[in-house]
Amino acid sequence: MTKLGLYVHIPFCRQKCLYCDFSSYPGTEHLFSAYTTALCQQIADQGGKLCKPEVDTIYLGGGTPSILPVHLLEQILKSLFASFAVTAGAEISMEANPGTISREQLCLLKQAGINRLSFGVQSFDDELTARLGRIHKASDSIAAVEHAYDAGFTNISIDLMYGLPGQTADGFLNELKLAAALHTSHVSVYGLKLEEDTPLAALYEQGKITLPDDETEEAMYDVMTEFLPSQGLQRYEISNFARNGMECRHNLKYWHYQPYLGLGAAAHSFINRQRTSNAAGIQEFIDVIAAGLSPVVMSETVGRGDAMAEFIFLALRTTRGMELAAFAKQFSVDFFHHFGRNFEKLHRQQLVQADDKQIWLTERGMKFGNVVFSSFLPD
Ligand code: SF4
Repeated sequence: MTKLGLYVHIPFCRQKCLYCDFSSYPGTEHLFSAYTTALCQQIADQGGKLCKPEVDTIYLGGGTPSILPVHLLEQILKSLFASFAVTAGAEISMEANPGTISREQLCLLKQAGINRLSFGVQSFDDELTARLGRIHKASDSIAAVEHAYDAGFTNISIDLMYGLPGQTADGFLNELKLAAALHTSHVSVYGLKLEEDTPLAALYEQGKITLPDDETEEAMYDVMTEFLPSQGLQRYEISNFARNGMECRHNLKYWHYQPYLGLGAAAHSFINRQRTSNAAGIQEFIDVIAAGLSPVVMSETVGRGDAMAEFIFLALRTTRGMELAAFAKQFSVDFFHHFGRNFEKLHRQQLVQADDKQIWLTERGMKFGNVVFSSFLPD
């Protein structure tokens, strides 16, 4: 039986990065304690409602979970352990900003049950991180990873970005080399997307920053896909690279269309094809929970056509691809019977491959994933 994954949202940040459109708020330290109380209440409510289900992954994301004082993070973890049947060996991840974490905090978090860290490094170039409005420097990122090793963590990921204003392909390769020198078990690399209504998008529109051209960005992509595997970090998803057996089990649940429960402000859940999301505002979340009401503000049942498309394109994000038997089991229909024409067209464009067990994206398909994904959407 598929076990549940838990996503716990911590919506606080010390400073808003210029490119960020996540649900995260600076200057809200006065709400740390009340938010934790509300979050623990929701954890208890949901654990009770679902009859304390088995959970094998927990992911504390944000925002910046590491900005919360350790005693509040401990309180959240205790609530999770009390309200859900967390299996032995469960993956318990926490995102951390290198500018907000000390060796002492990391030791305490390890004792409290966190066993995987994901550091939002984004860049090892101090000029680039400053341009993004991030609060840390490369030296903080390197120190944070070293502190994590000292604290006994062995499952450590770092996030990097490419396509940044002023970044070059050579500079990006140097950053990847610095990342590889830290010998972490996992590296995620995302291309910068200018999100609407962010300060970085406004700077771009005003002509105050320039972004690498398409050719340079493609060179960065190629550098990433060649260099990281040469360092023992195999690509297992479009943006994710891991050493053998160190793939992020929580994120694999998303790509394998498995159930997850989102806890906290702005968190999303997906259970039995029902998608819900919680109120995004911190105070709103606190008030709703205090009033004994549900924080869910959106709820929809994913229709069969959308569910098929999501199942396919989420699985195709992984290098392993989509298992044909899993698709047939989920939707009681043969993939080629339903999508044979779509597949043939993509195959002619050398974007997908298949054998008798699965379909997967080619190297070219990984680069142009959006073309593939849109082709499976219902009309
Ligand atoms: S630290 Fe992360 S969540 Fe917070 S503002 Fe920066 S990018 Fe957004």
